[in-house]
Amino acid sequence: MIFDTHAHYTSRRFDGHRDEVLDSLPAQGVCGVVECGVDLATSRAALALAETRPWVWAAAGVHPESLIEDDASTVYEFHGDWRAELAAIEPLYGDPRVVAVGECGLDHHWPVPEDAQLALFEAELAAAQEHSLPILVHDREAHAETYALLKRYRPRGILHAFSGSADDALWIARQGMLLGFGGALTFKNARRAVEAVAALSLENIVLETDCPYMAPEPFRGKECHSGMIRFTAQKVADIKQVPLEEVLRITEQNARALLGV
Ligand SMILES: [Zn+2]
Repeated sequence: MIFDTHAHYTSRRFDGHRDEVLDSLPAQGVCGVVECGVDLATSRAALALAETRPWVWAAAGVHPESLIEDDASTVYEFHGDWRAELAAIEPLYGDPRVVAVGECGLDHHWPVPEDAQLALFEAELAAAQEHSLPILVHDREAHAETYALLKRYRPRGILHAFSGSADDALWIARQGMLLGFGGALTFKNARRAVEAVAALSLENIVLETDCPYMAPEPFRGKECHSGMIRFTAQKVADIKQVPLEEVLRITEQNARALLGV
């Protein structure tokens, strides 16, 4: 069965056909989805979505990009005061359907202020520790700083959309984190991700979409949904020379054990 550890079905891209997409997933073999908030508004929406379907769980947190996104509640409601926003998110961590802190992390691809995003990520690492929750980490072009904080806090969690080297992957697995791979693994230029999967044990890997983005081949560029994970899983199966069903079974087990679902 397919377990999607990282989705954004509350994205406006799904307006008008969200229920249709979600209701089509169980028949495609999807047994679990973690819907990731990126600010207070989407964290609340993720929890609301999780309350509608027993196989959807929510993660609540503030994404570094939300610090500079006009349509993030971090900006339009909290005017950059992420401490106040985290305080408003805090009560969500007591809800049994909120199974992780995130999506959070570091991003040097977009012009996000350095000090603010570091302090925000550290506050979310501390929140994960305090609530004994796993953390869902975004690391875009910020490997060194991300790894330094993982070393300091030693969280349980997932490094999502992993884009580092095989050596980095093995180090992160030794820190006790899982590595998330999505549609990008199937792209022609995915040499590093393929090397990372080859180096890792299946026990350290989980699958994800990041939908509506990052559809795997042969759907690259199209709207993505959790059913497409089958193609990412097939790529992992090809790299590891094991049956597809084994990849789906072990990655589902890994996700369930981490998230406690
Ligand atoms: Zn995401």
